[in-house]
Amino acid sequence: MAALSHDLGHPGTNNSFQKKTNSDLYQRFGEKSTLEKYSVYLGWKTIIEHHMLDGVPSNEMLKAEKDFEAIILQTDMAHHTDSLAILNKPASEITKIEFASILLHAADINSPFLRPFQNFLARSNACNDEFYKQGDAERQFKVEVTPFMDRGYDMSQQAKMHPSELQSLQQRLSYKQSLAEIGFVERVAKPFFVQLANRWPPAGQLVENLNANLEELKQLSVELST
Ligand SMILES: [Zn+2]
Repeated sequence: MAALSHDLGHPGTNNSFQKKTNSDLYQRFGEKSTLEKYSVYLGWKTIIEHHMLDGVPSNEMLKAEKDFEAIILQTDMAHHTDSLAILNKPASEITKIEFASILLHAADINSPFLRPFQNFLARSNACNDEFYKQGDAERQFKVEVTPFMDRGYDMSQQAKMHPSELQSLQQRLSYKQSLAEIGFVERVAKPFFVQLANRWPPAGQLVENLNANLEELKQLSVELST
């Protein structure tokens, strides 16, 4: 239920955007894990309204709600380092709920291990589209544009460009995206999945997939740079 609910109501912009623009969600749920708290709220409300846990004793319900919240809050990328720290603990000290939250976080950042490469690329493009849309919105709101969400040029200049210039610009954008993606896979995803596989051998296949994607990505990046 936590996995199904973890992105409920997600507006396609991140927590920092909510803060920068002082959005309704920011005002309602505060600065820490704004969107995750909103998803907890919507998910738990749905569970209660649809009587999904009717019959569960009230003391167990309290625990279920706490666990539901903990698992979803852990999907906030701001907790990525904590998730890695949990994986580094001795197995006997990792609670079931912590392990469940680790697996959900792993599933949440799944693009690096999607094979074949085209599937990874399709997901990367979808994320990138969402980032660039946020960058555009930041520009509209006249707040600081998040560097990796910046299309890298003034929208008003696009119309003035010759088609061939525009094409080369798009190629540069893809190159920029490939660099951002390499950074994410190498520095964020890989250490996490390597450690997950150390603790839980079935995840070894994910590391193999990730490495294969990383190799193809680097090759593509070199081609795009020329
Ligand atoms: Zn998600």
